Amino acid sequence: MPPQTPDAKITTMKQGAELTGLSQAELVSFVETMGEPAYRGRQIFAALQHRRLRSFDEMTDLPKDFRARLSEVARASSLTVESRYLSEDGTRRYLMKTHDGFPVETVFIPEERRDTICFSSQSGCPLQCTFCLTAQLGLLRSLTAGEIVEQIVIALNDAYGAGVKPPRGTNLVGMGAGEPFLNFDSLLQALRVMADAQGLHIVPNRVTISTAGVVPRILELAKASDRPHLAISLAAPTDELRNELMPINKKWPLEQLLSACKEFEKTLKPNERVTFEYVMLAGVNDEDEHARQLANLLNRHGLKAKVNLIPHNPAEPLPYQPSLDQTVDRFKNILESKGIHVYVRRPRGRDIFAACGQLAARQGTPININSIGA
Ligand code: SF4
Repeated sequence: MPPQTPDAKITTMKQGAELTGLSQAELVSFVETMGEPAYRGRQIFAALQHRRLRSFDEMTDLPKDFRARLSEVARASSLTVESRYLSEDGTRRYLMKTHDGFPVETVFIPEERRDTICFSSQSGCPLQCTFCLTAQLGLLRSLTAGEIVEQIVIALNDAYGAGVKPPRGTNLVGMGAGEPFLNFDSLLQALRVMADAQGLHIVPNRVTISTAGVVPRILELAKASDRPHLAISLAAPTDELRNELMPINKKWPLEQLLSACKEFEKTLKPNERVTFEYVMLAGVNDEDEHARQLANLLNRHGLKAKVNLIPHNPAEPLPYQPSLDQTVDRFKNILESKGIHVYVRRPRGRDIFAACGQLAARQGTPININSIGA
């Protein structure tokens, strides 16, 4: 991953930014600028990332006067949970706010062998995918590394309690609100911090980042040594249709996008694949011809791709309906007959608007609300 710039981060931090997005080394540098020994920085890191504490008051292993000085120059947390929704299938959705009032959404999905946390990289999103509720907010602001890390801390604390080791592995998916590759530096910083074995210890191999197709960042990520898995939100097999559904395609059309994926693929281990997410919209992108076009597109680029067919989750005012089950099956069969690996994703948390494309500041929905917060 690209080199860190601790000085810049420490300057920001002194203006009151959160500490959750700093590595151990950066926290050590910071406490040294406050005239404290290096081990204090490591103590703060352990408190934030291993014990998952969210206020200086709770860090009782630090001297009281040091905690007071810390709270004058920095924050131990930025996010507050405004509402928590609990789905019948166990999925939890959190609506949070940053310290300066911007909405953030996170989804926790418990599964038999692991938990998956779907985090947001931005508040709102500047891209205008027509099947996505978040698009309707526009970009409010990009999240800091600390705000990305904190979403995971809050979800784990709510599920297991502060400092309790999760009984299962934790996978992360950067598929919540926002385009992660338009907040690249904060994203990579957050991944570095979370990978630390003395903290959350969620290594990049357990992380999948989904992009709408920011080609230069795909190429940049391909060069990084320790990096997450890559997923592309594709949604259409031709430029004509993709221009309509995902306007980012006008900037980086399919040929460029797939060529970048091919570059990325060259750096993967033999059993790894780039994932292509394909949201199934009835009568729009789910015809047999679309399946053949999609298979040809992936095969023409020689990609050993994996395609996830994602049922669309209808939500007002989006103008789309989900494809019928038999249509999804036919689409899958056509792709498989052309040698493509296909999975049909089971929607989770539909009743709480936590499923794909439904993340948006949809406040006041009176379904299963539980306002305990994390
Ligand atoms: S699908 Fe993703 S990239 Fe597209 S508008 Fe929604 S949040 Fe943004």
